[in-house]
Amino acid sequence: MEKVLLKNIDNPDSARIEAYEKSGGYSGLKKAFEMEPKAIIEEVKRSGLRGRGGAGFPTGMKWDFASRDPKFPKYLLCNADEGEPGTFKDRPLLEKRPHLLIEGMIISAYALKAEYGYIYLRGEYPHAKVVLEEAIKEAYERGYLGDNILGKGVKFHLSVHQGAGAYICGEETALIESIEGKRGQPRIKPPFPVNVGAWGMPTVVNNVETLSNIPYIIEIGGEAYSQIGNPECPGPKLFSISCCVEKPGVYELPMGTPLKEIIYEHAGGIKGGRQLKAVIPGGISTPVLTPDKIDCPMDFVNLPKVGSMLGSGAIMVFDDTVCMVKVCWRAIKFFEHESCGKCTPCREGTGWMRSILERIEGGFGREGDIELLQDVAMSIAGKTFCPLGDGAANVVLSFIRSFTEEFDYHIKNKKCITQ
Ligand code: SF4
Repeated sequence: MEKVLLKNIDNPDSARIEAYEKSGGYSGLKKAFEMEPKAIIEEVKRSGLRGRGGAGFPTGMKWDFASRDPKFPKYLLCNADEGEPGTFKDRPLLEKRPHLLIEGMIISAYALKAEYGYIYLRGEYPHAKVVLEEAIKEAYERGYLGDNILGKGVKFHLSVHQGAGAYICGEETALIESIEGKRGQPRIKPPFPVNVGAWGMPTVVNNVETLSNIPYIIEIGGEAYSQIGNPECPGPKLFSISCCVEKPGVYELPMGTPLKEIIYEHAGGIKGGRQLKAVIPGGISTPVLTPDKIDCPMDFVNLPKVGSMLGSGAIMVFDDTVCMVKVCWRAIKFFEHESCGKCTPCREGTGWMRSILERIEGGFGREGDIELLQDVAMSIAGKTFCPLGDGAANVVLSFIRSFTEEFDYHIKNKKCITQ
């Protein structure tokens, strides 16, 4: 498949506006300005594009909800707070293709009649901040941003808002709180941000990769886009793959590419030719898969059928030398650290699960620890404000379900099965 999102990524000047325009950049914007805002929303609906940040909500539908709300001003926020372990698929877009994102945001803002936009950038991406701010400056100088874009009477202003390193600010309502200058904690939903978002106004929050798909949809049309990959959730998709593979990195492939193909063909197989033991397919909060499930297509529809989720498309591969109790402990340590503390099951439960896992991993596990872990996880699942709590519970429950024997061995023998 011809590269769309990572087009010209190897060009050292790919982040500069001249190189972007030379490769056809900003032509989607010019075409979009010939269309009515409503027609753009219809085109995005027709494309079948689903959000690439993890939840997979249909983008056109989200835009439709916000555009129907009569309140103004409306805001467009780009969620660039990519911070889950294993997830780095937005990074090449931010650092190497900033104008693709900016063009996508201008088209989206025009469709939504939003006059202000922010890119909420992960605090740990300082280079991306420099690149984005330079690209925004170039876009203003070329007349793509401002009060009268390309002389068409369209207004859109864009700036970067850098986070302070909290993973929870990747949750859209916590992101909004943070942009408003408050402590980044999720809000209860409903109301949803499309009606009551930033400063109480209709707000669309879309992920970097989602917005970067928009120029291509306008260029080829929603119908043609809907034919790429799995028709139930089409389009090109970025997959980041890491841990025990020969060629870790970010790969652009059609949605629905089998997990096995990504691991063995694109990422070069398991490092050192070792045996595959487990795969986390969509970022650390998605349930772990065993090798018998890797024929599964990587998309929003098929992964749930084998007990996991696409999430952000961040694949983590583990070979037969890896201790799964240790991976589980490390993951929960992350969730405990990143829990914002607003709700009790998550605040207390993540710490409790971490301490049980820590003692099992350290050789001090007790009989009944597996059941206790499951009990705590079940007391978190479905009882928290935001998906962080569910993510932590998912990790524990799926690791125990897939590797019960390994947990059991650890407790009984005070050491890992791999030793
Ligand atoms: Fe905060 Fe965790 Fe509750 Fe989410 S689930 S609101 S991170 S305490």
